[in-house]
Amino acid sequence: MNRAIVRRAHQVSKGIWARLAGMLRLGHLRALLGSFVLAVAPASAQQGPDIGARLLQDPAVKAAVQAARDDEAQTIEDQVRLCEVPAPPFKETERGNVYADAFRALGLKNVRVDKEGNVLGERPGAAPRPHLVFTAHLDTVFPEETDVTVKREGTMLRGPGIGDDCRGLAVVLSVIRALNKANVQTLGTITFVGTVGEEGLGDLRGVKALFRDTLKGQVDRFVSIDGTGLGITHIGVGSLRYRVVFKGPGGHSYGAFGLANPIHALGRAMAKIGDFQVPREPKTTFNVGRIGGGTSVNSIAFESWMEVDMRSADAASLKSLDANFHKAVDAALEEENERWSNNGRLTVDKNLVGDRPAGRTAANSAIVEAAVSVTKALGFPVSLDEGSTDSNIPMSLGIPAVTIDGGGRGTAAHALGEMFDTTNSWHGTQRATLLAIALAQK
Ligand SMILES: [Zn+2]
Repeated sequence: MNRAIVRRAHQVSKGIWARLAGMLRLGHLRALLGSFVLAVAPASAQQGPDIGARLLQDPAVKAAVQAARDDEAQTIEDQVRLCEVPAPPFKETERGNVYADAFRALGLKNVRVDKEGNVLGERPGAAPRPHLVFTAHLDTVFPEETDVTVKREGTMLRGPGIGDDCRGLAVVLSVIRALNKANVQTLGTITFVGTVGEEGLGDLRGVKALFRDTLKGQVDRFVSIDGTGLGITHIGVGSLRYRVVFKGPGGHSYGAFGLANPIHALGRAMAKIGDFQVPREPKTTFNVGRIGGGTSVNSIAFESWMEVDMRSADAASLKSLDANFHKAVDAALEEENERWSNNGRLTVDKNLVGDRPAGRTAANSAIVEAAVSVTKALGFPVSLDEGSTDSNIPMSLGIPAVTIDGGGRGTAAHALGEMFDTTNSWHGTQRATLLAIALAQK
C-alpha cells in the first residue's frame, strides 16, 4: 500500500500492472507516465514546487477537487448550522459535540474529545506517518448571551463568527467529504481537529494541549484553516500580555501626604514603556491598552493597574521587549518608593495573561511550497501573510505549519455584524482539499 501516493481505492485492488495495461489500451500515455511515477516511485513524486500540478494529473485527485467544488452548497449550510450553535470563550462544549457528531457521520475513526475540549477524528492512510493534523477553531470571541442567528441575503451571510471560524470548521468537513467521495487513499494519516481556545484569553489553550499532551510527538505537519480569502500565513506573530498591579496602604491625600502612590508609580512605568525603541523589521509593537485604579480625587490610591500588550513576529525581539518591560516596571516601583523614602512602601504584581509564542515556517520550506503550489495549480492568487493563529504553537516548536484562509470574503471579524460573502467561496474549499492531499504524502 505504501507504494501509492494517492489513488482511488478501487484501483488499488486492480494492481499496478492491470492498471498500466488498461491505460495503455486507452492510450493515456501522459496519464500513464504520471501515474507510474505516482504509484511506484513515491520518493520522486513528493513535495516540491510543482506538487500541485502533478497531483492534479491523478484522476482521484481531480475527482476530489471537483467534489470540493460541487459540495459548496453543503459547505455553506454547515457553516451556518455550526455558527448557530454558541461557542463563547471557555464554553465550546455544545458546538464541540455537534462537530464530533459530524466527524462520526463522515466516517472518521477514533472520534474523541480530549481533556482540553478539542474534538479529534482520524482518516487513516496507508501508514500512520506522515501524520497531518488539519484543524479549525471552535471558539468565538462572543459572550454567552449573544444572538447567533445567521441571516442570509443573496450571497451574504451575516452572524457573529460566520467567517472566524465557522468557515474553517465547515471547510474541514468539506475536505473530508471530498476525500471520501473520490475514494482518495492517502499515504499518511490525517487527524482532523476542532480546537478550543484560539481567541483572546483562550490563549491558544486548545492547540497548546494538542502539542503538550493529546498528540505530543506525533504531528509531522499542521494546517489551520482560519480567516477568509486565500492567504497563506507562514509567520506566527507572538504576543505577551500582562496585567500589572501596583499596591500600597493608601490614605488621605492631605492628611497622609508623604506615602508612596500606586498611581504615580503606574505613571512612571507608562512613561518608560512609552519611550521603548523597537525594530520596525521584524515588526515589534507595544501598547498600554487599559489603565485604572484609585477611589477618589482626594485619596492616595491603594491600587493601580494597567494592561499591556507586546507583539513581534520574531521570538528574540519579543524576548528583549519583554525584558525591557520588566525592567521598566521594576524601576518605576523603586523610584516611587525612593521618592518617599519607603513611606507606605509599594509592591507590584506582573501577571502574564497572554502568551503566544512567535514562530515562522520558512517561505522555502516544503509545507509553504506545497501551499503555494496547490494555490497556483488551481489558478488562484498567492499571498504569503503573517498572523496570530493556532499555527503559532507548532511554528514555535519547529514543526512545519501553515494557516490557510478558507475562501470567500469576510468583513468585521470579532464584531456582532460579522459578514461572509460566499461568492466563489468554493475556491477555498478546493484549495484546502488539494493541500490536505499534498501534505498527506511522504
Ligand atoms: Zn480565528
